[in-house]
Amino acid sequence: MSASSLKGKTALVTGSTSGIGLGIARCLASEGANIVFNGFGDRQEIQILQNAVENEFAVKTAYHNADMSKAIEIEAMMSFANTTFGGIDILVNNAGIQHVANIEDFPVEKWDAIIAINLTSSFHTTRLALPYMKQKNWGRIINLASVHGLVASAQKSAYVAAKHGLVGFTKTTALETAQTGITCNAICPGWVLTPLVQKQVDARAERDGVDNDTAKKLLLAEKQPSGEFVTPEQLGALAVFFCSDAASQIRGVAWNMDGGWVAQ
Ligand code: NAD
Repeated sequence: MSASSLKGKTALVTGSTSGIGLGIARCLASEGANIVFNGFGDRQEIQILQNAVENEFAVKTAYHNADMSKAIEIEAMMSFANTTFGGIDILVNNAGIQHVANIEDFPVEKWDAIIAINLTSSFHTTRLALPYMKQKNWGRIINLASVHGLVASAQKSAYVAAKHGLVGFTKTTALETAQTGITCNAICPGWVLTPLVQKQVDARAERDGVDNDTAKKLLLAEKQPSGEFVTPEQLGALAVFFCSDAASQIRGVAWNMDGGWVAQ
């Protein structure tokens, strides 16, 4: 795509202070989109991220610290985005957390938080973004699901339930917008080496008494035939493609980028 294919558009990427969300925000900015960042972290470090994106890609950015488990804060973030940029053209529902435990040991508050952040937040952002997109008859909604939206793993009950739910929500959103210029699709990554996954690498290293590199290889070997991590930049490139005219009839898909994980 050209360097200015998304010029004049505004993208809100939830959970974009780190990992995949940051990678996608940078790719959308590289195509000219203004970015509303969201996520937790040190305010000064987030300002540095914003400055880097503004300087590198000559776009505008803003930041809102909404906690994606709270409807009222999501509503405040969406109004802030409307006031700052006039409305959101591209919504990337990316914020997510993980917790690993057997069902009978799974802390109830972790279950509630995972469902709220990884699933329900997308309902709130989507319901609040759609009126502006419908008015413009253009929009792109991209939901960061996971291979765990397509297949399961043991000890990830809340995450698997939330991501399967998000894939279902993606399909309904796609159907309700099918005769408009708005598309909604899900991206389903396999292992991506971000802070969310590094915690699982650390746990594996401790459990098996191995070093960091060996723990990474063991995690990949179990599930991801390529033996390599997917990168945030590769996922960002797919998000940019979903925003293109060429992708205007891709509606309601759950597109895995997973080194072969779900082909098995
Ligand atoms: P990450 O931990 O690096 O980043 C998560 C982001 O979400 C951070 O910006 C964090 O501040 C934000 N966040 C967390 N809780 C929040 C809350 N309550 N309110 C607002 N922001 C919040 O994780 P990541 O690996 O980049 O994951 C991003 C998304 O991709 C998640 O939805 C995750 O489930 C999904 N995913 C990740 C992988 C992987 O291997 N890393 C694989 C498949 C899917």
